[in-house]
Amino acid sequence: MNPIYFISDLHLSSVESPATRSFFDFLDNKISTPTDLYILGDLFEVWIGDDDDSELASVVQSKLSNFTSNGNRLFFIAGNRDFLLGKSFASSANIEILEDPFTMNFNEMKIIISHGDFLCTHDSEYMNFREQVRSQAWKDDFLSKPLSERKEIADGMRDASKVAGKNKSSEVTDVNLDDVDLFLRKEKPRLFVHGHTHRPDLHDLEYDDFSTQRIVLGDWDAFGWCLKLDDNGPDLFKFKIK
Ligand code: MN
Repeated sequence: MNPIYFISDLHLSSVESPATRSFFDFLDNKISTPTDLYILGDLFEVWIGDDDDSELASVVQSKLSNFTSNGNRLFFIAGNRDFLLGKSFASSANIEILEDPFTMNFNEMKIIISHGDFLCTHDSEYMNFREQVRSQAWKDDFLSKPLSERKEIADGMRDASKVAGKNKSSEVTDVNLDDVDLFLRKEKPRLFVHGHTHRPDLHDLEYDDFSTQRIVLGDWDAFGWCLKLDDNGPDLFKFKIK
């Protein structure tokens, strides 16, 4: 079987940024195609609506639709930064938006993929915020505001989250391992892949009646991170961001 790939947390913020250049190079040169590429959230540093007239939005849209026109398929799970990415962008970029968490199969293996923030339950302040902004009422209200106002609100929220993040312990901003256990014991996947925490790693987990692996993707900062999955199993690899 051809390999498939998973990435997350690119946090693209401008057309000229190293992460954006590396992402385009990744699509062109770093993966064997045709393939299925799963983007597990926070592709963008911020997404304020599909009517965003930024250069980044339009350049990424045409790059993605070009990628799929070459026989590749693209799937997207919303992150906490880009959960407002909607049907209009998805259809113009030719990406399919998936539920979070999403269950899939590869080589008859049950795999669950997620952005991962739904398991960050130690951080009750964040979980409350998440519940609020993911409600349809909040989204409708936010998207009804003019673009310029949405930009200001988004900048303000990012500043506030940076300040709040500094005062949070490393345990609080990671997934809650008790809730991970509960989730995995119930779902029993062979692989669980997520991002969000920016702590790339492979965790082998043994339970009474099954074993699984939790694979955490990394954010694209000094390195880009990607999980490749083929007949040989999972391979989490990184490459320098230039
Ligand atoms: Mn995130």
